[in-house]
Amino acid sequence: MNSGSYDVIVVGAGPAGLTAGIYLARAKMRTLILNEGTVGGQTVLTHEIANYPGIESISGYQLATAMKNQAKKFGCTIRSNINVTGLDLDGEIKSVEVNGKEGFTAPAVILATGGRSRTLGVPGEEKFKGKGISYCATCDGDFFQDKEIIVVGGGNSALEEAVSLTKYARSVTVVHQFDHFQAFAHAIEEAKRNRKISFVMESTIAEFDGSDALEMVKIKNLVTGDISERKIDGVFVFIGYVPNTERLHGILDLNKAGEIVVSPLMETSLPGVYAAGDSVAKRYRQITTAVADGTVAALAAMEYLRRNVLPQPTGELVETES
Ligand SMILES: Cc1cc2nc3c(=O)[nH]c(=O)nc-3n(C[C@H](O)[C@H](O)[C@H](O)COP(=O)(O)OP(=O)(O)OC[C@H]3O[C@@H](n4cnc5c(N)ncnc54)[C@H](O)[C@@H]3O)c2cc1C
Repeated sequence: MNSGSYDVIVVGAGPAGLTAGIYLARAKMRTLILNEGTVGGQTVLTHEIANYPGIESISGYQLATAMKNQAKKFGCTIRSNINVTGLDLDGEIKSVEVNGKEGFTAPAVILATGGRSRTLGVPGEEKFKGKGISYCATCDGDFFQDKEIIVVGGGNSALEEAVSLTKYARSVTVVHQFDHFQAFAHAIEEAKRNRKISFVMESTIAEFDGSDALEMVKIKNLVTGDISERKIDGVFVFIGYVPNTERLHGILDLNKAGEIVVSPLMETSLPGVYAAGDSVAKRYRQITTAVADGTVAALAAMEYLRRNVLPQPTGELVETES
């Protein structure tokens, strides 16, 4: 059932999708944003954002609300807490099915479904996310000035971020499940040379504990099974990143990590389908980079519509009597 036709459908209402919505709706494009979770995406997990230019400090929820209101003010329709159950992105008119019953169509689609950090999945992790547990050193490192922290992981990001966190923290303990690291030699050497960093190998976090905020972790030795308790101010988890692209497998080009492959104009492998934000293949994932991607995707989608879909001026001269 076709519940509505639009110029552009944006899938995902994080910073990338909302920015695309602002640009599109302001240019009078009939724009629908469909979002599975809470509007704002990962930003609503952040209690303080201190690196968005022009705003010294704002909560993720406030920033997301401001972006949402701005998009709506320009006429963007936003549907959140829905379930995208089908995507047909081939052909000139694309369709998106919602909740298994409603269908929306548009000649252009922007995919801005973001991603999520891989989690440990142990007791207490959900409770203390953003209250001592972080998945982003660039975002939260500054909140741990002179504190004792743990970094979980043994790949390049874990070791590089452990080094960068020593700018703030008094001590950084890297907890890693194996007896060796899966990182480049230079990253391992740099971490080992840093006197603030120590290592607990063949171990993992078994539980997080505290009252309002994180206060303590249980560390499990994976060889002996022994569990030790440790007081801690913060834990940074860097055990991988998962793009929200599960539904796109077999539909358009993804890389081995499941990230959407895009051109510099945020074009995907399908004509009229663009992608933006954390779900695309790129190195740095921040609100500013998501916002930039959303801008480019919206402008490129509008150009696509102008060239391929919207009524073209005929170019015929109309003679008028003088
Ligand atoms: C704890 C934490 C703290 C952070 N702090 C900062 C910070 O201080 N500064 C900073 O710059 N960055 C920070 N980041 C990173 C920043 O939040 C992300 O880079 C940014 O939110 C990415 O925006 P996005 O729009 O690409 O995706 P997301 O924010 O992930 O939004 C994607 C949206 O798409 C929805 N969605 C997913 N799949 C579907 C689907 N199939 N159909 C419909 N909707 C779907 C999701 O529900 C979500 O609402 C932080 C990240 C985390 C996790």
